[in-house]
Amino acid sequence: MILILSEGTDPQSDGYRQLMERLAALPNIRCREHLIKGTERSVTEIYLIGDTKALQLEDMQALPCVEQAIRVSEEYRVLGRHKNDNRPSHFDYHGLRFGQDTLHVFAGLCAVDTPQHVEQMMRVLKDNGQSCTRMGAYKPRTSPYSFQGHGKSCLPWVFELAGKYGIKVIAMEVTHESHVAEIREALETTGKPTGVMLQIGTRNTQNFELLKAVGRQTEYPVLIKRGFGITLDESLNAAEYLASEGNSKVIFALRGMKTNLGDPHRNFVDFAHVPVVKRLTRMPVCVDPSHSVGTRSASPEGIMDLLHVTAQAVIAGANMVLVDFHPDPPKALVDGAQALRLEELPYFLADVTIARNAYLKRAELGKQFLARC
Ligand code: PEP
Ligand code: MN
Repeated sequence: MILILSEGTDPQSDGYRQLMERLAALPNIRCREHLIKGTERSVTEIYLIGDTKALQLEDMQALPCVEQAIRVSEEYRVLGRHKNDNRPSHFDYHGLRFGQDTLHVFAGLCAVDTPQHVEQMMRVLKDNGQSCTRMGAYKPRTSPYSFQGHGKSCLPWVFELAGKYGIKVIAMEVTHESHVAEIREALETTGKPTGVMLQIGTRNTQNFELLKAVGRQTEYPVLIKRGFGITLDESLNAAEYLASEGNSKVIFALRGMKTNLGDPHRNFVDFAHVPVVKRLTRMPVCVDPSHSVGTRSASPEGIMDLLHVTAQAVIAGANMVLVDFHPDPPKALVDGAQALRLEELPYFLADVTIARNAYLKRAELGKQFLARC
């Protein structure tokens, strides 16, 4: 069960003290307190864990300071959608809103290589009105002999360039808890010119200690990728690990599943699950066409599969697109075969806009139809 406290509840107040005393007296129940900080309001949520079946919703709602009590199903307690649950399905970070009704494109380098390439990328993003990007500094690679990313050494100049070109949020994968500290330190020494969304890659979706560590910090939102060889339920539970530790600023990314049934694509594209994740949880849903499709192959009319699957996801309501670009794909140190070229960015964005407008029209049509039923 989740108790949402009235806005502005003071932890020093008598009401709050009484509430905590009453909760402490409940048999076989543990309490976990979370402060959810938003730009407009901050609320305290108390998760009751244990034998909550014996509790009556009305009794809990009548406790001092409680605005709403929500009985949660066993699944995805914090991030899931539950009956009569009107908690928001968005969060704000670095001046941007990420929700189940917004759309952001994170076009950028799979792996940071040279300052020149990073600057070229960021310049074209700015010229096209973009304020988000992806920049891989820590790269999990299949072979130990492949380029592993520049790691912390590139962070200061990547962040400074981001500031120079008005980039507000960089999606950046972390593969170890220490990377979060390195990112924090580099942001502090450069004067926080940009924001970072920590990315958990598909190979680490069930790295529970990493999830717990990243979930314990609430400074940076998290983009968690679906595990490429596990069920959707297992991946959603992995996302819940982050939230159960306190960080519910979580975006869930679909990136294709590892199976030969998806050939000739690199992975089997799973973007039909965009509405499924939005229905089961309150998380915004991201899609990664690059790591799903893995090639620049095009259909007979000349549209690349990368653009087709992006459009399919956006027309179904996707909230974020994470996509590989590179100024010189043959020279990319990682995943050049799937990278779009900088001159293709305006085309890519225009195609996304067509799909987004179609989605908005479809949502409106659906609403009108339901209102008549
Ligand atoms: C990436 O986005 O750079 C990446 C490695 O993706 P994934 O974890 O989906 O393979
Ligand atoms: Mn990659």
